Amino acid sequence: MPFSTSDLTLLRLRCDSCRQYTEKLVTLLVRKDTIPCSFCGTQINLKTPHNTVLIKQTAEACAKIGEALAQVVS
Ligand SMILES: [Zn+2]
Repeated sequence: MPFSTSDLTLLRLRCDSCRQYTEKLVTLLVRKDTIPCSFCGTQINLKTPHNTVLIKQTAEACAKIGEALAQVVS
């Protein structure tokens, strides 16, 4: 599998309950519906319209950066 920056990119998601941010790898988030908050343990819904767009766009941007980098490195 080729190198991708999405393997290294962290996305910050805000917990509705405690308002703290939890950071997770984008590659992890695209395969999940919810993640537990690091602070209070409340499940953060990744399928809200806001989070769906955020995760999708970030993952796509990372894929594009990964492709561009793959062409630079010879
Ligand atoms: Zn929380």
